[in-house]
Amino acid sequence: MRSGAFPLRLITYHSALDTRRPSSDTPLMLELEQALERILASIPAPKSELIPLGEAHRRVTFEKIAAGIDLPPFDNSSMDGYAVRAADILSATAQAPVSLPLGGRIAAGERFSGELSAGSCIRIFTGSTLPAGADAVVMQEDTQIDPKRPHEVLFLDSAKPWENIRFRGEDIKHGATIAAPGELLNAAHMALLAASGVAHVPVSRRPSVALLATGSELKEAGDSAALAPGQIYESNRTALAQMVRSVGGIPKVFPIVPDDAEETRSALERALAECDLVVTCGGVSVGEMDFVKGAFEDLGGQLQFWKVEIKPGRPFVFGRRREKFLFGLPGNPVSAFVTFLLLVRPALLRWQGADRVVLPASAGVLAEPLSNPGGRRHFMRVRVDGKGNVHSSGIQASHVLSSLALADGLVDVPAKTNLSAGTAVQVLRWE
Ligand code: AMP
Ligand code: MG
Repeated sequence: MRSGAFPLRLITYHSALDTRRPSSDTPLMLELEQALERILASIPAPKSELIPLGEAHRRVTFEKIAAGIDLPPFDNSSMDGYAVRAADILSATAQAPVSLPLGGRIAAGERFSGELSAGSCIRIFTGSTLPAGADAVVMQEDTQIDPKRPHEVLFLDSAKPWENIRFRGEDIKHGATIAAPGELLNAAHMALLAASGVAHVPVSRRPSVALLATGSELKEAGDSAALAPGQIYESNRTALAQMVRSVGGIPKVFPIVPDDAEETRSALERALAECDLVVTCGGVSVGEMDFVKGAFEDLGGQLQFWKVEIKPGRPFVFGRRREKFLFGLPGNPVSAFVTFLLLVRPALLRWQGADRVVLPASAGVLAEPLSNPGGRRHFMRVRVDGKGNVHSSGIQASHVLSSLALADGLVDVPAKTNLSAGTAVQVLRWE
């Protein structure tokens, strides 16, 4: 993501439409990067807790974890075959095999205290301890055993010294870092930690995140009654809850809040009391039914800014009340989704001390033009085909969910810009 590329634009609020807000010097409209910087700068330092490794998926490591053992812990075979001394089968070919007597067998997991004596071989399996004295493993496919002479192995090929051997510590050395501080742990990290014998992981505490949807037109999905005229099913909290979970947060879904000043205030009050962060959607623009900003200020919260120069999602409120934070997202489903990814997701990650907080991106090439005639950066929904070609995923209006569901990611198209087919782009992705 670009950083610091845009001058901070200070716009003092002066809309005649909003009668609840006194005019103030609050810088309202920010560029995305400035908004993000200000949010991240407000987030407090993480606190740690120790949890079982099995619960560490999508959690952030609080501190460096060092390996307590070498990996692999001992030299071992990477093949099912025979441990040998390479010098003993130098001349072996399919036409003139070399025969060696079978001196033993080491199963995986078995302790082996013996030694390979010169001029013999030992049956060995993938993961079996390499016997002292051996310097190569010949794969089973390069050998033969005559059923009449079961204690002799015919080698059909020579072996290079140290072939098919996995060395102690070649993966990880005792003391090496196996998880850096601030790492968002995934299944692969967990495998490495498990292999190193780690049973408990120091991670940052998870933020609890209240999710509130405002709007008198909203109805709970799954309600038995059909939609009344003018109603729509509420859809933002489900998506937001999932996105909160995927960065380690604990979502707490609150009931729908009707467009009413008192109801908005009491819902916000409860949410602020129960959770670390509060995410609302809807009710943050300048319509006379938009109550979130006023309610938050009534509760002693301070608005830090309330517009970001992006599309979708210009109305975006960031506020603070002591150590609690308000993220007021616009109600349109795509606007809520995109502003969450661009501004709330990083905050949740930073709250947990994560190192990388911006969305992962992958390179692609536009298969068709992406045009943004408007005056704000447009994060356009795209799908990426199997060849890495990037297509618009459909209608880009902020209420259109079908193109969001088809999308693999977003492309940041600058204001008043037409990106032609063939342009190399970065596709911002979500999990
Ligand atoms: P608002 O930001 O409250 O002005 O809402 C903008 C648009 O998004 C309106 O069409 C709302 O009906 C719609 N909307 C607001 N909140 C939600 C929600 N939680 N789920 C689905 N649509 C919503
Ligand atoms: Mg509304």
